[in-house]
Amino acid sequence: MKILLIGQGIAGTMLAWALHQRGVQVRIADGSLPGNASLPAAGIINPVTGKRFVKSWRLEEFFPAAKHAYQALEQFLKVPVWQPHPILRLLGTAEESNDWAARCALPDYADYLGERRDAGAWQPFIKPGLSYGVIHQAARVHFPNLIGRFRQWALESGMFENKVMDYDAIPGIAPDYDAVVFCEGFRASENPFFPELSWQPAKGEALLLRLQNAAHITDMLKKTMTLVPMGEGVFWAGGSYQWHYPDLLPSEAERNFILRHVDEMLAAPFEIIGHVAGVRPAVKDRRPYIGASKKHSNLFIFNGLGTKGALLAPYWAEHLAAHLLQGLPLDAAVDTKRSGAGA
Ligand SMILES: Cc1cc2nc3c(=O)[nH]c(=O)nc-3n(C[C@H](O)[C@H](O)[C@H](O)COP(=O)(O)OP(=O)(O)OC[C@H]3O[C@@H](n4cnc5c(N)ncnc54)[C@H](O)[C@@H]3O)c2cc1C
Repeated sequence: MKILLIGQGIAGTMLAWALHQRGVQVRIADGSLPGNASLPAAGIINPVTGKRFVKSWRLEEFFPAAKHAYQALEQFLKVPVWQPHPILRLLGTAEESNDWAARCALPDYADYLGERRDAGAWQPFIKPGLSYGVIHQAARVHFPNLIGRFRQWALESGMFENKVMDYDAIPGIAPDYDAVVFCEGFRASENPFFPELSWQPAKGEALLLRLQNAAHITDMLKKTMTLVPMGEGVFWAGGSYQWHYPDLLPSEAERNFILRHVDEMLAAPFEIIGHVAGVRPAVKDRRPYIGASKKHSNLFIFNGLGTKGALLAPYWAEHLAAHLLQGLPLDAAVDTKRSGAGA
């Protein structure tokens, strides 16, 4: 079987891996286009999210699939990918602390949430007057290591081409393959083979900060923003959300927005050493899009990973691989034919 993937962010990478594992002859084309979501992302997997501290959708299925796939890729590519780090959750108000305590008391949350008296290694760096919780079973997936090294391996194996694929050329190319799968991130909103799908792309930005004497910190830190240790005292700080934006570049307004929220967390001085931006391929009902084009039966889409590509990509890549190779039915929750997917 021979399959062409268009786009190699986290979606294309994990699908290429799932297909390669099954013996498929995979070809990948990625044009390194601006606005890619995966490269500026921190790759955080946070099992309990939102203002009300609710467990992520189908976490018990997706988390083991993610851990397994990323650890296998880490072995295969010989580069750090799966980095488990607890999240120190800063609780700013009495209401937040009460909600946290209530969640901690639920048996379903016992494996994920805990209470903390102090901020541990973060203590000298953070604002006084906050209380703390801890989120267990959280991780950071090192997207740049994974995607970069996978691309290098694919290039050396003759599987990868650095090329922007033109939609007009697809009908001429598609008959050479058993399937062509679009994994093109937010650019899918322009894809003429899936005109019925609706999108809510969300631009996001993040800063890279250097804190003096903080190289030993390993926990992530979260309030409105998340700080993720990247090594050597550098922290990823983000991310912001914009549904309307003039371009794909980092902006002054979002820099100030992130800094305002970082200032609510940190008492220690820091230096800004980087600023990144990308566009999340988000969908109104917050479910991935997987399915075949209504116009061409061997054109498929694997997209809509929204804000949670790190957690979702491995499970759904396996799911799509099983659909393409064994004809297993698509889960109705992600099928592009579901109600609510249309524009
Ligand atoms: C600031 C920020 C922070 C984030 N933080 C997190 C986080 O902590 N945890 C998490 O899970 N998620 C996070 N996300 C979301 C996550 O990044 C996305 O869910 C995920 O990266 C989407 O991956 P993708 O492969 O679908 O798209 P992308 O990563 O955008 O990849 C699409 C690829 O397709 C290529 N392409 C497009 N069209 C063509 C074409 N015609 N021809 C050739 N190539 C093409 C592009 O060059 C690109 O490389 C964050 C996103 C942002 C922006």
